[in-house]
Amino acid sequence: MRPEILYPLFAPATSLKGVGARVAPLLARIAGPFVRDVLFLKPQRIVHRVTAEISSAKDEEVATFVVTVDAHQRPIKPTQPWKIRVFDGSGFMNLVFFRGSGPHLERAHPKGARRAVSGKFERERFAGAPQIVHPDWLVPLDQAAMIPEFEAVYPATAGLSSRSLRRFISEALERAPVLLEWQDPAWLRRQAWPSWREALVALHAPSIDADLSPAAPPRRRLAFDELLAHQLALAQRKRRRGDLSAPLIVPSELASRIRDALPFGLTGAQQRSLEEIRADLGRGQRMTRLIQGDVGAGKTVVAMLAMADAAASSIQSVLMAPTEILARQHFETISSPLAAQGFQTVLLTGRDKGASRTLKLAKLRSGEAAVVVGTHALFQEEVAFAQLGLVVIDEQHRFGVAERSRLQAKGPQVHLLAMSATPIPRTLELTIFGDLDISRLDEKPPGRPPVATRAAPMPRLVDVIERLRVAIDSGAQAFWICPLVSESEVADLAAAEARWIKLREVFGPAVGLVHGRLPAAQKDAVMSDFASGGLSILVATTVVEVGVDVPSATIMVIEGAERFGLAQLHQLRGRVGRGSGESSCVLLYDPPLSELAARRLDVLRRTDDGFAIAEKDLELRGGGDPLGLRQSGLPDYRFVDPIAHADLIAPAAADARLILARDPDLVSARGAALRVLQELFDWRPESRLTELG
Ligand code: ADP
Ligand code: MG
Repeated sequence: MRPEILYPLFAPATSLKGVGARVAPLLARIAGPFVRDVLFLKPQRIVHRVTAEISSAKDEEVATFVVTVDAHQRPIKPTQPWKIRVFDGSGFMNLVFFRGSGPHLERAHPKGARRAVSGKFERERFAGAPQIVHPDWLVPLDQAAMIPEFEAVYPATAGLSSRSLRRFISEALERAPVLLEWQDPAWLRRQAWPSWREALVALHAPSIDADLSPAAPPRRRLAFDELLAHQLALAQRKRRRGDLSAPLIVPSELASRIRDALPFGLTGAQQRSLEEIRADLGRGQRMTRLIQGDVGAGKTVVAMLAMADAAASSIQSVLMAPTEILARQHFETISSPLAAQGFQTVLLTGRDKGASRTLKLAKLRSGEAAVVVGTHALFQEEVAFAQLGLVVIDEQHRFGVAERSRLQAKGPQVHLLAMSATPIPRTLELTIFGDLDISRLDEKPPGRPPVATRAAPMPRLVDVIERLRVAIDSGAQAFWICPLVSESEVADLAAAEARWIKLREVFGPAVGLVHGRLPAAQKDAVMSDFASGGLSILVATTVVEVGVDVPSATIMVIEGAERFGLAQLHQLRGRVGRGSGESSCVLLYDPPLSELAARRLDVLRRTDDGFAIAEKDLELRGGGDPLGLRQSGLPDYRFVDPIAHADLIAPAAADARLILARDPDLVSARGAALRVLQELFDWRPESRLTELG
């Protein structure tokens, strides 16, 4: 229930004066449906109104003039504007009004009246007199003091001027109540931050550019409020989930035997992650853990050992992959080690039909199969289990929330282990995955030399192909990734096909092509042909198709590299260098490279540590969302800039934990204030937070 004190802010924006049927949808688009949303708009720029004379004012300058009304000029046709001719000691100009009531203007500003007028001055645009179209201010001289010297400019949109926005915002500000302080007083004092309401007033009254910066104290205060509301919701949710019970799974002999039979020892990071998972599984509470690890860090093995523990406790596990190819590959990794110990694994994909499908489903229902690896097909109604207790999701961001909860619903209390190959910088971990437990696989298996990476401009394509020919002649295999031409799959496909044809001219039939439009069976056939060495070059459109392990491939060519995000490039490159041989990656780009793009490609040349690359990408972030953070579940904050306010994230999380430790149900006086804060930002524990469970 929303606290009464917030009612004025959660009144519809249409309750603001001047927000009618025409304006409301525009306002909803840039702000939102409530008065609160209008209040939370951020100014983008400041205008400084100079005082000027008509003869010397500069074109496009926002200026204030003291004038006398000379004449009203009526429109001849209705499409023409109403004009008021005015003059000062230096010359004449027109005040131009489209639409609106001319007669009213004439009554309000009769000939001879002295007026202060302010707005964007335009000098002789159409060889006529200078003009101001729709002045921001036109008032009697005794009211000239009302015209502010500095004014905030908001992100105006067609049909909705910054000036109207300012009016709505100022009314919203008047309605903003004084709220009980929710921040810790000592912390507030130390930061020298204003109160919430004062911060909002300051936000909307900038006078120098520094006031617009995310570093301005009022803005930091508001950002911290928002972070605290969010972190509090994450922490509440984590606590609630911790109350749910789930089957006890304990470390098993079975897992030890499987581990001992591996041709390699676990890395320290794998060992540590496994211990963290086991600590969760042995607690009797539901696990919600994410393994964050670079491509090739060895996540599958860790998941497999956890599933072995489950199997030993007669609990079934699911491993879900986003594509058929990946599912198949996981199945191959997992099924034989488990089979060697007498446990059955089943592969279930959309291609299973008829009798084979019926048999597999029966094995899951009876509990005969300990593990099932599959794709979206696992979500189907008919898939039922004897005793499902652990769900492992690979590439978790590729699945929707609904799909995941459908899967979890197949077992009463199910542990959830997600795997993500997108390393998230540490600073952002708390905002993206604050309600999850995280294991970081930040160490790669030994004996893998880094992938030699270089950038080459497109005009050097001939050289690149020539070098590739030499390598292929001596038995190498290569991926060739085609550029993301556009948002359209069709265009991407056309580019890939063209490249494939060109490469076939050079390399003959040993060049394969995979893309998203290919039927699953054909895709698999091409992939396995490549994996078994039948094909030398695999041309591919997207990341999806290459999310597979082909250890013998040692060359990666990425065309249009400047169009990919750093994280994506890093992941693509991670497809080679999986064996012990020397590998290389060529980043083909269309010159000229922007400075930022050049620096980004350079980062890739210098390091192959995914976490380091993620940090660097954050640092170099130049607008846009090259990291794909939105997609990773970074919330749509109103005041928080995750980069500029990075230093506030950890304190907000720590504060949230402390608050809940002292007052789990937020019943104290501060607790009540914090509940108001959460309402204010819509961060309740039950709101959609991150993408998991
Ligand atoms: P990812 O984290 O990208 O899912 P995988 O689990 O697919 O990585 O592992 C990549 C490759 O590394 C696989 O071929 C796997 O057998 C191998 N591997 C995993 N762990 C180790 C290890 N500790 N030492 C050597 N090789 C390993
Ligand atoms: Mg993997």
